[in-house]
Amino acid sequence: MTILLDVNDLQAFYGGTQALFGIDLTVTAGGITTIIGANGAGKTTTLRAICGTIRTTGDIVLSGARVDRLATEDRVRRGIGHVPDGRGTFTDLSVDENLRLGTWTRRDAPAIARDLDRVFGYFPRLAERRRQMAGTLSGGEQQMLAISRALMGAPRLLLLDEPSFGLAPLVVAEIFAIMRRINAEDGIAILLVEQNAALALDLADTAVLLENGRVALSGPAAMLRNDDGVRRAYLGN
Ligand code: ATP
Repeated sequence: MTILLDVNDLQAFYGGTQALFGIDLTVTAGGITTIIGANGAGKTTTLRAICGTIRTTGDIVLSGARVDRLATEDRVRRGIGHVPDGRGTFTDLSVDENLRLGTWTRRDAPAIARDLDRVFGYFPRLAERRRQMAGTLSGGEQQMLAISRALMGAPRLLLLDEPSFGLAPLVVAEIFAIMRRINAEDGIAILLVEQNAALALDLADTAVLLENGRVALSGPAAMLRNDDGVRRAYLGN
């Protein structure tokens, strides 16, 4: 299987405080890798490190080329899309305006129009609310908008930070079903950070368990799902 993202010995720092201590992980082309772990384990930090919004050492390789010294904007151009924790939508802008912001690295108008149709195909409720301010949307719709905005950057790899956070189970199920379609129909690889380990291990093919900024366990998602320690600590069974 072709490796799309290859992270080696990743260390990350908030000022003088080290948060990651040598993380290795991979995402295959068209694959789904999930990062699970307790609060403060370093999941969010790992995504920030990959998009380049925090100081790091180590190798971050996308499609065979190192990106770890590139500015965030150049990583976006190479195909990394980020849906940050807290969603990061602009509440005072309309749905349309938020989506347009997702295209800031692109000039290809016909492809942008096609991607907009595709996004509204996935999330018809956003199409009905195009002119509504993002701040007036429900939590689930705002998460859908955040995912859509990242998709408008035409990513090859989508980094998703806790898409289930604060949402009702039915809405979470809807969003996970659409993530599966985005992956299967568009071949977009996903690196998913989740507190809800059961859902995440169900969706992913590969999984990484972080503890205190280090990889405690990694391998096929099915292996982690059946691991006694993971089941006790993270799956409650
Ligand atoms: P959560 O689910 O709570 O977000 P997480 O696994 O995503 O947990 P991180 O947010 O990546 O964990 O945090 C990893 C470590 O980095 C923690 O010790 C945390 O206190 C620290 N940290 C996170 N953000 C900052 C920041 N902005 N400044 C300083 N330290 C930070």
